[in-house]
Amino acid sequence: MTEPLASDVILSVRDLKTWFVTRRVTAKAVDGVTFDLKRGRTLAVVGESGSGKSVTSLSIMGLLSRPGRIAGGSILFRDRQERVHDLAGFGQQQFRKLRGSEIAMIFQEPMTSLNPLFTVGDQIGEMIALHEPVDRREARRRALAMLKHVEIPDAESRLDDYPHQMSGGMRQRVMIAMALSCSPSLLIADEPTTALDVTIQAQILDLLRRLQAEMGMSILFITHNLGVVAEIAHNVVVMYGGRVVEQAPVNDLFAHQRHPYTKGLLACTP
Ligand code: ADP
Ligand code: MG
Repeated sequence: MTEPLASDVILSVRDLKTWFVTRRVTAKAVDGVTFDLKRGRTLAVVGESGSGKSVTSLSIMGLLSRPGRIAGGSILFRDRQERVHDLAGFGQQQFRKLRGSEIAMIFQEPMTSLNPLFTVGDQIGEMIALHEPVDRREARRRALAMLKHVEIPDAESRLDDYPHQMSGGMRQRVMIAMALSCSPSLLIADEPTTALDVTIQAQILDLLRRLQAEMGMSILFITHNLGVVAEIAHNVVVMYGGRVVEQAPVNDLFAHQRHPYTKGLLACTP
């Protein structure tokens, strides 16, 4: 029997185990991860490279590919209709249906998620048309509104840019615009600022904070950078070797760390 979600929790990951199973080895990439994300809040997942952060987010999105598989645990997500999906019970397919309508995701390198052959206006328009039947003109009008919403300067002329004509920071804004086109209640951001230089990083964090305040969106923010955590998150989960070694409100974590890995991480943070 799975315990139901508390009313202020939008996403609950419980004892999640995601393994990569090949003939010779079973790599336990995620090995019993548990955390709750509260509505309208930002939960940061931090940990060094290879600690299982991305595998956790792909598991949540139903985007795992072979040889990865969920070996145990459950992922509960409550949408506006108060539906609850239990991965262990129903399988990944059910959960995947929510992708793009309730849960959106952005990644580290926007260039790989954007199609180099189409303008950003067309790509955002196409996302919008996926969720609602709109004609070309309306899709373009909405795409422009989205570009303005994510604060792209001179948005009218940027609509016809190809991805390579934009800076990395602007491309990440385009990805955010695409992610928001379905008005998601949960945004999963997997190292969205890692590839950006520090000033641009700060601008993207500002943007996400503003969008969260306006839209009441919940954010699962994955990063290996504790400085970024201090800027954006309310709570933090620290992963190490596929497990959660610590979780706390951000201020508590900065004041007092229990696990040696977290202590080391903090010591390296300027
Ligand atoms: P992080 O995002 O924290 O850097 P990942 O979640 O990407 O780490 O990876 C966690 C572990 O899972 C790593 O040991 C990685 O090698 C392994 N892993 C990730 N993807 C695959 C895959 N497609 N096949 C096999 N192992 C994988
Ligand atoms: Mg990763």
